[in-house]
Amino acid sequence: MSAAEGPPVDAGRVIADLRELDRRTGGPDGAQRVCWGEDWRRAREFLTELLAELGLEPERDEAGNFWAKLEGESEPALAVGSHLDSVPDGGWLDGALGVMAGVGVLRAWATSGRQPPRSVFLVDWADEEGARFGRSLFGSSAFSGTLDPDRVRRLRDSEGRELPQVLGANGVDLDRVLQSGERRETLAAYLELHIEQGPVTEAEGVPVAAVQGCAGVERHRLRFTGQASHAGTTPMDQRRDAGLAAAEAALRIEGVAERNHGVATTGALALRPGIPTAVAGEAELMVDLRNPDADSLATMLDEALELAKLAAAKHRCGLENELVWRIEPIPFDEPLVSLAQETVADTGGRDEPMSSGALHDAAEVARVVPAAMLFVPSIGGISHAKEEDTSEADLAAGIEAFGALANRALPLGR
Ligand SMILES: [Zn+2]
Repeated sequence: MSAAEGPPVDAGRVIADLRELDRRTGGPDGAQRVCWGEDWRRAREFLTELLAELGLEPERDEAGNFWAKLEGESEPALAVGSHLDSVPDGGWLDGALGVMAGVGVLRAWATSGRQPPRSVFLVDWADEEGARFGRSLFGSSAFSGTLDPDRVRRLRDSEGRELPQVLGANGVDLDRVLQSGERRETLAAYLELHIEQGPVTEAEGVPVAAVQGCAGVERHRLRFTGQASHAGTTPMDQRRDAGLAAAEAALRIEGVAERNHGVATTGALALRPGIPTAVAGEAELMVDLRNPDADSLATMLDEALELAKLAAAKHRCGLENELVWRIEPIPFDEPLVSLAQETVADTGGRDEPMSSGALHDAAEVARVVPAAMLFVPSIGGISHAKEEDTSEADLAAGIEAFGALANRALPLGR
């Protein structure tokens, strides 16, 4: 075994840990590890037990992120991990796979009788999903510094409880969360294993893929204004039907995706008055555009707005556009992605790196620390549901490739 190779991760043990986590925090409806709740805390208790087996004592940072350090021969450290929190009725692998695979990396070294060439941190980011308060990537964006405490201070959950109060009950002070960023200096690189949550790798029949970055998102609310009028008495040629304008815009925006190699979704449409006996006087259409390339994303937005304008004009409606949320495409670190691709190629994985349409903690981390990811297939492309699954063979291949990647990254300097 050369120093660069390092000890292999025991994938069977990692899968057993995942099944035990599922037994403790899941049920017939799926995983229930919603962040800041009881099952999520129980998941972290289990993680603490696993780390105690290795003689490691975890600590929490100011944002509620959970860290455990295995001392190596040098600093700064390599960090491996993901998130234990889930959506309600979620899958057993989303996030948990990356955390347990990270434990596997620490376990491989801790039981090898050798010190890793640099220290290794396991990290479990707090509230990746944003399932309770609607703010995704909470812990990792506090770490990267993009979280603005004042913008989330008034968020409430469905039971009306305020975010600062729920954080407080979990020992997190919203006014101090950005201090978690002080840890950036202690990290040389960050690696994350995750399920793809889409159908690409399964369709290609590959067990693992390197990820080159996360797509950017443009999310807009298009408001079409026509004139509500009687369904029986208003002649077809005299209508100003905002619903038809929105529907036509949605159909036209579909084509924007293919032309620009991205994805476009018009997933929410609200009509007013929204009754069978009236022409819709108002329509709100939510548009979500994603592309890994910033220029292509900008083109998608221009085209979508132009097509919406044409649809509005055709139905003699007004059109307003409101930006709901936007994030630029976040590329991962090129040398780390190359290393990930080499590792994937050695294990019969995908021929080239893919881009992630979903956001991950690694995207926030990549802003401040070199980062890269690996994906394993999701059966049927399904995630955020109790049916979420990955074949045991693909899980094992992904976990082993992740361990190999961590070992290859360990000797690299910052
Ligand atoms: Zn996830």
